[in-house]
Amino acid sequence: MTAHDDNFPGMDGANQKIVREIRINPIVPSESVLVATARSLRPKKAEEPAPRDTRRHVETCPFCTGNESMTPPVIAAYPDEKNWEIRIVENLYPVLGDDRSNPNLTFGLQQTIDGYGRHEVMIDHDRHGIAVHEMSEPHLALLFGAYRDRMEQLYRSNKRLRYVLVFKNFGPAAGASIAHTHSQLIATPVIPDNVQAEVMNSRAFYHKNHHCIFCSLIDEALTFEATIYDRESGEIHRKINVGQYVIERGKKFIAIKPFASRYEWEVHILPLQHQGDFLRVSREDLADLAHVMRRSMARLDAVLGGAQYNYFLHSLPHDASCADCEASYHWHLEITPRTSIPTGFELGSGLFVNTVAPETAAEKLRAVQLD
Ligand SMILES: [Zn+2]
Ligand SMILES: [Zn+2]
Ligand SMILES: [Zn+2]
Repeated sequence: MTAHDDNFPGMDGANQKIVREIRINPIVPSESVLVATARSLRPKKAEEPAPRDTRRHVETCPFCTGNESMTPPVIAAYPDEKNWEIRIVENLYPVLGDDRSNPNLTFGLQQTIDGYGRHEVMIDHDRHGIAVHEMSEPHLALLFGAYRDRMEQLYRSNKRLRYVLVFKNFGPAAGASIAHTHSQLIATPVIPDNVQAEVMNSRAFYHKNHHCIFCSLIDEALTFEATIYDRESGEIHRKINVGQYVIERGKKFIAIKPFASRYEWEVHILPLQHQGDFLRVSREDLADLAHVMRRSMARLDAVLGGAQYNYFLHSLPHDASCADCEASYHWHLEITPRTSIPTGFELGSGLFVNTVAPETAAEKLRAVQLD
């Protein structure tokens, strides 16, 4: 089955009703999405799933074992350099670098910030074509621990670094140029706009309501129950059930399908207990994060069949402007499978179109039988 087939066989009929509404992202209200499930409204073409490279070892791959001399020098390796399972190296083609040859230039309204920063590659696994959901949970815990260690080291290495973005591209449409499984870290002297918007909006919410908006969304996902009736006919318009947006729940983490998802199969993973900075996760937390991550990725793989995707970590920036946001911001991992291509309508209006109702997507993902 492909991602753009919305006649899911075996679905119960409750959610088959056509949804056509604009949903506002509760955290960043300027980001809205048009949820339009009617087939005729679909304005975009689905991406083809990438043919998956499942090979264990590739002679010519610079990230495979035995070819360590083909990469720039190693920065760190886990558990050690000789028997590495995870290996961090400089990016061969960094988008940002150490050199200070370009001072800040400003001319009228045109401002630039020099390209200072770090760009590193993390080889996620010694096995060339392994998918995230095929990795063991101890390995995934090691991987997330490596993200944390390296973020911490980068923040400590230079006070000018305000944000370390950790992300993964899987598949050519998602931007991956090397097939061997890998993640990237980009450390920059600026806070990315979307992180800044989340941090500032959640702070405003906190000042008004005295609690974290992400925690409120988790509470709603777990307990919300409502029936919306049509004002005139009294007919049930929509019924929101308990746990309707929950994909996976661990002891410490939850995977949810956001109500206003911009991408059809977007899933977010958040700590159940409030935590602003990813650097604070404990060893015990990492084990449960690995559990929820593996199971969520297995659900996505079962429904989408090797779809191309990106995931990235959003955590509290290390900047004085965010010093008071530890209680209002809540770190999370966003997973965004690429099952469609944004159109001119979306790029021009900023209004994303999602052709699978988030409730339907969540139900479909939950229905996957995992061992
Ligand atoms: Zn390889
Ligand atoms: Zn929170
Ligand atoms: Zn985010």
